Amino acid sequence: MLKTDHVNVEMLKKFAPRPGARDLLPEISPKAQVALMCRILFAEGWDDHIAGHITVRQPDGTILTNPWELTWDEVTADDIVTIDAEGNVLDSDWNITPAIGLHLQLHKARADIHVVIHNHPKWSGIWACLQEVPPIYDQASAYCGVDIPIYNEYLGTLDNNEACASLIDALGEDARWALLAQHGALIVGKDLRQAHLRAATLEWRCRRAYEVRLAGGAEPLSNKVVEDVSLPDPNGFPFLWEAMARRELRRDPKVLGS
Ligand SMILES: [Zn+2]
Repeated sequence: MLKTDHVNVEMLKKFAPRPGARDLLPEISPKAQVALMCRILFAEGWDDHIAGHITVRQPDGTILTNPWELTWDEVTADDIVTIDAEGNVLDSDWNITPAIGLHLQLHKARADIHVVIHNHPKWSGIWACLQEVPPIYDQASAYCGVDIPIYNEYLGTLDNNEACASLIDALGEDARWALLAQHGALIVGKDLRQAHLRAATLEWRCRRAYEVRLAGGAEPLSNKVVEDVSLPDPNGFPFLWEAMARRELRRDPKVLGS
């Protein structure tokens, strides 16, 4: 991924006119990008054992996803599975979760959405259980706007097609994310950079809100301030995905596969 991919290039030129002293990342294959995303989000709190699925639609319509058998912090580029739009595995001996149906339906329903992420994260899971939208108390919680739908019609696990269709209806045309009551969280995005910012921001916001509540509460940011701070979501957050990817490469260069 180039550092200019999926960012507002005019804003980047204005605020970061220098070329940088070195490349932010080596050349990374699409499968390696998905493996890195799994590792990055695991470190952000998206870490419920072998639960969770990331799907990334490719330009040819196929979808890359993580295998069911492996945890997000061990997956490598070689493990990433290619499936077709119906969920058939095209190139792997690994299995994919039966709960992939929600992702497939979302990809079909939203042509603008190329990345879908679901897991049972540490901090947003608390607010999903509370069935309450976490207030925004600081800048890093405000990068992606205020609204978070809470989908609270618990109809079973997400391998139920009826529940999936109902959730997609509840999300509507432009939802960025959702808390799934007594279950977990869902992120959608046009690309990995946007989806990562949303996943990281949701988890940070939920953690801060929980900590502030435990500390006795405080005044949240106004919606106007959040609106001003939430420029990175539509314009891209330059350098952030690369920085998180480099951290995972330092931890385990084998994530890139053979
Ligand atoms: Zn789940």
